[in-house]
Amino acid sequence: MAKYIFVTGGVTSSLGKGIIAASLAKLLQARGISATIQKFDPYINVDPGTLNPYEHGECYVTEDGAETDLDLGHYERFLNTPTSQANNVTTGRIYQTVINKERAGEFLGKTVQVVPHITDEIKHRMLLLGKDGKYDVVITEIGGTVGDIESLPFVETVRQIQWELPEEDVMVVHLTLIPYLKAAKELKTKPTQHSVRMLSETGVHPDVIVCRTEEPLNDDIKRKIALFCNVKPGNVIEAADASTIYEVPLLMQKEKLDEIVLKKFNLQASPAPDLTKWNAFLTKLKNPKSTIQIGLIGKYIELQDAYKSILESFIHAGAMNEVKVKVVNIHSENLTKENVNEQLKGLHGLLVAPGFGNRGIEGKIVAVQYARENKLPFFGICLGMQMAVIEYGRNVLGLQKAHSVEMDPNSPDPVINMMEEQKRITMMGGTMRLGAYPCTITEGSLAHRIYGATEISERHRHRYEFNNAYLKAYQNAGMVTSGVNPASGLVEIVELPDHPFFIGVQYHPELKSTVEAPAPLFVHFIAAAKIQAGVNA
Ligand code: GLN
Repeated sequence: MAKYIFVTGGVTSSLGKGIIAASLAKLLQARGISATIQKFDPYINVDPGTLNPYEHGECYVTEDGAETDLDLGHYERFLNTPTSQANNVTTGRIYQTVINKERAGEFLGKTVQVVPHITDEIKHRMLLLGKDGKYDVVITEIGGTVGDIESLPFVETVRQIQWELPEEDVMVVHLTLIPYLKAAKELKTKPTQHSVRMLSETGVHPDVIVCRTEEPLNDDIKRKIALFCNVKPGNVIEAADASTIYEVPLLMQKEKLDEIVLKKFNLQASPAPDLTKWNAFLTKLKNPKSTIQIGLIGKYIELQDAYKSILESFIHAGAMNEVKVKVVNIHSENLTKENVNEQLKGLHGLLVAPGFGNRGIEGKIVAVQYARENKLPFFGICLGMQMAVIEYGRNVLGLQKAHSVEMDPNSPDPVINMMEEQKRITMMGGTMRLGAYPCTITEGSLAHRIYGATEISERHRHRYEFNNAYLKAYQNAGMVTSGVNPASGLVEIVELPDHPFFIGVQYHPELKSTVEAPAPLFVHFIAAAKIQAGVNA
C-alpha cells in the first residue's frame, strides 16, 4: 500500500497548492519514488467540462478523456507522466455515485448520510490510486480553503484516514499565507495560526506548514509558527515567491520538504534528487538569447488561466529554442478587417486558440487571413484549425458563406460539420469527442517533419469536424490534409505548403507538453517564429 500526503490550503485561495503538490511529487520522483497527484474539488459539477473558462480556467483533458481541473496539467507538466479520471474527483461525482447506488437499492433500507456514506465514497476514491502497487506515494490536493462549508466532507475524510492508517503512512501539508505589512515592516503569523486552529477543530492536524511569503521567514518567525501551530520547528517551510513556477521544486528542496516526507514515511530513496534535465531546462528558461512575440487570439484572454496549457507550452518551447516567448493577448472580438494590420503589427507568429460559440469568431477568421496572406507563422488549435478551414473556404475556394454549423446551422457551405455520433447526443456533460485518438500523418508533410513520425496520438475535445464532403475541393485548392484519424478519416491536421509555417490541428497538443517533453508543434512553431523575427537559430 502507498503512503498518502494530503495538501490543504488556508487563509486564502490561489496560493498555489497545485504547484506545491507538483513540486513535492517532482522531488520524490527525482529520488526514485513513484508518486502521483490527485485533486479533490468541492463543487457540485460532476466535472469542470461544463464550466465556462471564466469560472474556473481551462478544462484539462486526460488521455482517457476525462475533463478535469487545470491543476492536473501542472501535475503532468512536472512529472511527465499521464493522469486519468481517477486523479480528479468532485463533490458532484461523489454524490452522483452515492445517489446512483441508493437508487439501485444498494443501501438496503438505510438512511443515506454525509457521514458515513459520502465520506466512505470519498475515502474509497482518496485511497484508490495507492492500492495497485503502482505508486509509493499518492498526493491529494484538497480544493478550496479550510473553513469552507463545501470542503468539510473532504477534510472529515482526511481526519478518518489519518485516524485509520498507521502514523507513518499519512501526512498532512497545510499551505498558508504569511502576509507582510509594509507599514509595520512585519510578517504576520496570525492568519496562519487561525487557519491551523480551524483545521485542528475538524480533527486534522498538519505535519508540515508551507508558508507563502513575499519576504524571507527568519528562524524566529518559523519557530513562532511551529510553536503556535504545534508542528516540529523544522517542519515550517518557506515558500517564497518564485520568478517561475518551475523553480518551486528547487525552493522546496532547499527547504528540505522532500527529506521531511521521506523521514516521516521511513522511505528508502536516492540520497539526492536527480534534477539534471529539470535544471538544464531552467538554465535555458532563465537565459534566453532573444525575445519573440506571439499573438494569442482568443476570447477569454482577460483570464490567463483560460489558456493555461497553451501558455505553459510556450514556456517549454521557448526554453527549447532559447528564446523568451512574449505572448501578446489579442481579443478576437476587437479584431476587424479595418484594424487587423495595426493590431497584429510586429508579431512573429499567431496562435488562434480553441473555443466554443459565436463570440469573436469573425475576428479569428480575419486573423487567419492576415497570417496566411502575410506569410506569418500560423498555428490553429481546435477551433483555431476550424477557423483556418473556414477562412480558406471563403477567401480561396470562393465559398463566401462557408461556416461551421456550430455558429451558423443554416450555412449553405457547412465546411465544419457536427460529427455524426454527436448528432444523437442530448446531454452536454462529458459527451464531446474526448481524450487520446490516433492520427496518421502523410510522409513529407510539415506535420511529418515536426513529429518525425507517421503515427501519433493526441488528445481531443470537440463536437465538430472538417466536413469531408469538401475534402477534394480543399485539396484541389492547395490545402493539404496531412493528418487523419485512421479509423474514421476525420481530418486532424491541415497545412499550406506554400507558406513558411501554416498548420491547424483538430486536437490539443498543448495538453501533452511537459518540461521534459515539450510538444513538437509548439517547438517548431516557435522555431518558425524565430526565423520570422530574424533571430539566428
Ligand atoms: N467548438 C469547437 C468544437 O466543438 C472547437 C472546440 C475546441 O476548440 N476545443 O468542435
